[in-house]
Amino acid sequence: MEAFSISKVYVDDYGQVTVDINPLPSNYCSFDCVFCPLGRTAIQTDEAYSFVETEDFMEKLDGVLKSHHLDWVFINPNGESLANAQLIEIIKRIKSYGVKVRLLSNGYLFNKKAYRASLNLCDEVIGELAVTNEGHFQKIQRPLKGYSYKDYVENIACFKQQYHGKFLLDITVLKDYSDSVESVESFKAIIERIRPNGLIVQTPTVEKFKRTFGVEKEKLDEIRRVLDQVISSMD
Ligand code: SF4
Repeated sequence: MEAFSISKVYVDDYGQVTVDINPLPSNYCSFDCVFCPLGRTAIQTDEAYSFVETEDFMEKLDGVLKSHHLDWVFINPNGESLANAQLIEIIKRIKSYGVKVRLLSNGYLFNKKAYRASLNLCDEVIGELAVTNEGHFQKIQRPLKGYSYKDYVENIACFKQQYHGKFLLDITVLKDYSDSVESVESFKAIIERIRPNGLIVQTPTVEKFKRTFGVEKEKLDEIRRVLDQVISSMD
């Protein structure tokens, strides 16, 4: 999506009237994933910034919220949702129209108190995982210095423990990095630790990454089936 943009209104797979929004000027993120569909991270950071464009963006969003009967606004930016320091105002504005908010984040910053108020206001939060060990995390997701895979999983798990909305874990399965039997076993243990309300299990589909990282459909379907069973077995 373009900087500070709002998508066309669409009906999602569940029949919900939705728009996607991108409240960032460019790709701000704490990771620099090799498989990122946006390319290299422009500003690698775990800070939040006040962007002057946000005020105009919120006015534009007001217009869409007034003129459509939306069910959801999906904060699905080019980068990390939490990088906009006015995120909480954006969420409150959306909710003042009685519209639900879904937010996508890489999840590493879920432990930071400064972000909890924004996250906890959302009706649905999606956190992401793509690998299952420290070596692959550092090599493939190239996080900020000092980040660790153990902290990554724990940050998401601690957030989920206190969150009352719906939390989905979005797992990107990568060929040769997270598609082995051992990786699937690790994902199962991580799911048991985090206890998400549901899973999104996918693999890169952008053409330039598909050949290197894409997992074939049959294998992906089987991994999805096995991981979904973990969710079903939770009470
Ligand atoms: S976490 Fe997401 S936005 Fe950030 S670099 Fe990785 S794939 Fe791109």
